[in-house]
Amino acid sequence: MAEHVLIAGGGIIGLSCAFEAARRGKRVTVVEPGGFGGQASGAAAGMLAPYSENTEQPDAFFHLCEYSLRQYAEWVEAVEQGSGDHVEWLRTGSLNVAFHEADLLPMQTRLIWQNHFGAQAEIVEGEALRRLEPNVTARAVAGLYSPAESHVFAPKLVAALFEACRRLGVRLVAHAGAIEQVLHGSAAGVALVTAAGDRFEGDRLVVCAGAWSGAYEEALGLKLDVHPIRGQICAFDSAAGEVRHMVFSNQAYWVGKCDGTVVCGASEDVAGFDTTVTDRGIDRLIRATDRTLPILTGRETVRRWAGLRPATRDGQPLLGVLAGKPEIILAAGHYRNGILLSPGTAKIVGDLLDGARTGVSIDAFRPERFGASAVRG
Ligand SMILES: Cc1cc2nc3c(=O)[nH]c(=O)nc-3n(C[C@H](O)[C@H](O)[C@H](O)COP(=O)(O)OP(=O)(O)OC[C@H]3O[C@@H](n4cnc5c(N)ncnc54)[C@H](O)[C@@H]3O)c2cc1C
Repeated sequence: MAEHVLIAGGGIIGLSCAFEAARRGKRVTVVEPGGFGGQASGAAAGMLAPYSENTEQPDAFFHLCEYSLRQYAEWVEAVEQGSGDHVEWLRTGSLNVAFHEADLLPMQTRLIWQNHFGAQAEIVEGEALRRLEPNVTARAVAGLYSPAESHVFAPKLVAALFEACRRLGVRLVAHAGAIEQVLHGSAAGVALVTAAGDRFEGDRLVVCAGAWSGAYEEALGLKLDVHPIRGQICAFDSAAGEVRHMVFSNQAYWVGKCDGTVVCGASEDVAGFDTTVTDRGIDRLIRATDRTLPILTGRETVRRWAGLRPATRDGQPLLGVLAGKPEIILAAGHYRNGILLSPGTAKIVGDLLDGARTGVSIDAFRPERFGASAVRG
């Protein structure tokens, strides 16, 4: 009988792990307290930007991001074929805009090390910059062009993963309600028990509860130190081609989507589990837009929304099999890069389930690194 994998959480991480585990022949059940993809994953801008997100050094996190980006071509093909849906993966490249000569030095330093890892980046100035992105402000003195960066339409990728999982026979339990008990440590495997009294059993448990992963601290006897960072984001009405690349400034980013909108994000607010959108948060994005892409000045925002990024104390994910608890795997805390990291995380979790060596080192992401929880599970 195939191993039965129970997955807690139906965001992009849970669904990706489910898809990969099912592809590897496991029996899979995903238990989601609310709606699938209804939290951070459905709110994301969908950027796959390991170079723009890691500007300092090629550390373990950068290697994880880069590893995941390398999985994307095969991943998108498998998800699209498996679901019959398109995820709008656009390989536009990105442009980090510099407003002052002084901004160029860090870009040059970054370019040198990142080009050793496939970025193929270059500094563009003057006419070359305008040819690449004609509507960027005339105040921009230069840009760092990274052609290997791309983006997907995150809600479509989540929906396609859901459908691909369904077609592979994954049991997808939505609106399960609060998970009250996590039972593990016996020969009988693992079980999740909901407030309504429903019980879900499996041989192994993968915790993918995003910003809510801290709820597992007591049951696992570990300090997980995951907290929500709210991201407010909006979309402007736009015409095709007005924003060709993903554009980054030091205040915001802009991504032109297939539906004709330009998505602009995102704030980083400490607001608990509150997903309210505030005028203050969106006004900051509008002001940054006026400064960087004046063609959008005065345009209506056609949508404003927010999501909760799952941040850990050190900004790195929690990824691995728990020491002494081989039946439990953590895959949480992907903070600003969960869409980028979804195929890489799924492959790693698949390898851990199979007892195989992972394709990239995950030593830096040990779930035990913050110590034991105050209350032992
Ligand atoms: C505005 C914004 C823009 C972003 N842009 C990007 C981007 O461009 N590129 C990128 O790579 N990343 C981006 N991110 C980050 C990315 O969205 C997250 O890292 C990613 O969605 C995390 O996925 P997840 O499945 O872990 O979390 P979620 O999508 O939040 O899913 C977690 C799920 O767990 C469920 N849950 C809650 N409690 C429990 C429980 N007790 N047990 C089990 N399940 C539970 C929740 O209902 C939820 O469905 C962005 C995030 C935001 C908010």
